[in-house]
Amino acid sequence: MPLKYDIAADICERLARVRKAIARAEQRYGRPAESVILLAASKTQTVERIRAVAQCGQRLFGENYVQEAEPKITQLRDLRWHYIGPLQANKTGRVVKLFEWVHTVDRLKIARRLSTQRAGLGKPLDVCLQVNISREPHRAGALPEELPQLAEQVAALENLRLRGLMAIPAATRDFEEQRRTFAAIRSALENLHDRGHCLDALSMGMSGDLEAAIAEGATIVRIGTAIFGPRR
Ligand SMILES: *Cc1c(COP(=O)(O)O)cnc(C)c1O
Repeated sequence: MPLKYDIAADICERLARVRKAIARAEQRYGRPAESVILLAASKTQTVERIRAVAQCGQRLFGENYVQEAEPKITQLRDLRWHYIGPLQANKTGRVVKLFEWVHTVDRLKIARRLSTQRAGLGKPLDVCLQVNISREPHRAGALPEELPQLAEQVAALENLRLRGLMAIPAATRDFEEQRRTFAAIRSALENLHDRGHCLDALSMGMSGDLEAAIAEGATIVRIGTAIFGPRR
């Protein structure tokens, strides 16, 4: 069907543009080539559209809601999946079965459940701590001053592997302000390094602030709109 073909071609072009923007930012800010991993944020997208992105060469996808993700992942088992959405205690059992990584751990209770429920499922679950860097009252995430204790507790859990930090800063179009906020996230990661944690992941940067995130050390950028187009 010609219409389907056009959608796929359009998606491939958008994906290629995002990959180019990442490569350009790596070069401009002295990051090694291919040091930034692209995660395609596929919430609200259909299996067909995700498959179209996969056929353009994208393997890593992120989902926000367990209920929505489960049937999609079941149909797209050969792709790699990270959980980037809000964590509720009654959903952790399904999260550990569906996902390789969780970016949004922000309290010990949830981390304990994830670790217990991951037991016997093969590899440990890779996790990032979500930090509420802009201190927004309704934003999930630990406050920066809570990170050292939380990191120590999470790192001690048997079936989790603490990989780094994730954040969703307050939206702004001001590039310098974006950079300042991402720099604060990186500095929180460095603080954990100084306390002896060995961390390699900084999950930050979305469609509107990808360049600033890469300038400040992002290792995983989570991109939805720039790949799939605006969400309905
Ligand atoms: C939706 C979402 C993204 C992608 O946002 P875009 O602005 O569409 O690129 C990234 N991270 C999280 C946690 C999201 O929920």
